[in-house]
Amino acid sequence: MKKPRVQIRKLNSYDLDELQDAVGTFIKSCRNPKLQKSKRVLIKPNMLGAYPPEKAVTTHPVVVEAIVRYFLDAGKEVWVGDSPGGSVSVEDVWEATGFSDLAKRYPIKLQNLSTMGFRELKMDGKTLRISEAFWRCGIVINVAKYKTHSLMAFTGAFKNLYGLVPGLIKSDYHRQYPDTHSFSDLLIALWKLTKNRVTYNFIDGILGMDGAGPSAGNPRHFGLFFGSSSIAALDYVAATMMGFKLKDVPYLSPILHAEGVLPSRISIPNSFRDHPSFDAELGVVKLRTDLVKYLPQPVRRGFKKLYYARPVIGTDCKRCGVCVKSCPVKAINWQDDGFPLIDNAKCIKCMCCHEMCPYHAIDIKNSFLWRMVFGS
Ligand code: SF4
Ligand code: SF4
Repeated sequence: MKKPRVQIRKLNSYDLDELQDAVGTFIKSCRNPKLQKSKRVLIKPNMLGAYPPEKAVTTHPVVVEAIVRYFLDAGKEVWVGDSPGGSVSVEDVWEATGFSDLAKRYPIKLQNLSTMGFRELKMDGKTLRISEAFWRCGIVINVAKYKTHSLMAFTGAFKNLYGLVPGLIKSDYHRQYPDTHSFSDLLIALWKLTKNRVTYNFIDGILGMDGAGPSAGNPRHFGLFFGSSSIAALDYVAATMMGFKLKDVPYLSPILHAEGVLPSRISIPNSFRDHPSFDAELGVVKLRTDLVKYLPQPVRRGFKKLYYARPVIGTDCKRCGVCVKSCPVKAINWQDDGFPLIDNAKCIKCMCCHEMCPYHAIDIKNSFLWRMVFGS
């Protein structure tokens, strides 16, 4: 059995000096020979959409700045890139998230992972397209955000790999793998195809998100910065510190098992051994995955229609059209009044629209059955 190490640092703010110290200490501890040999680094933050850093949707630019400085000091060529979700313009994302500013101040290349080509690979009976940028860098640094997730319960280093899939191909995969379990299996296939090339992983949990993440939840100060070369160990530690149990997050057990990692053997700093889990608001993302995951696939689909929460477009809608373009099954259409409307019969409850709406105008409503059983 492996005994992976997860580094954790308590950081109360995005102080560049403190982050540089943490980044240097964490990376040096992983002793991966690629860090010396390879010349080009891909830093892969979470750039989900065009949100400013204080919304806690995307990786904070000062975290990325600390990593950029580490690798520039080491004489590396540095690329920073992601493929944002849905139809959002990558230039708008770079501008709003602070990464354009970073690229003006440092000799780095911002890369749009949606437009650089891809390699198509097979794993576990699934075919996945992964951005060419990923394969062109000998060092890959995965820099996730610490958040809840409406489909996967938790998003950390593992889910952040999904940004390696170019552009709207992501939406098509949501159509093909619509529920929590099948989508989790797809992500596990992606993880298996990429994990040996991912050199190190960070999670920016200084300002994270609870509630209806990954974009419409509540920004929440957790004051934690995590790092590990093991995605499985890192996400297990980070998710349980947020308050999740192993069973709440559908991919955790399979990847810990695949890595041969026993949770009790994961090494963390002594000062965090008795750290209480946060009293984070997890109900809206956690409970939905609980009951359905034990049902067989054919039953799950029918039950999901009755039981699952569904997206509802609210009065804050600004008619930007992002949801209409992002829905993988074209379940959102323009109405005569100029507003979009969700066709519930077509909707596969993937929550992409909820995730992508830049104005947080799409709410998650629990189903009638849910309200009857649980009362909210
Ligand atoms: S619901 Fe959100 S994404 Fe859809 S049109 Fe309205 S503001 Fe845009
Ligand atoms: S309406 Fe929203 S939740 Fe339903 S399928 Fe489209 S993107 Fe997914």
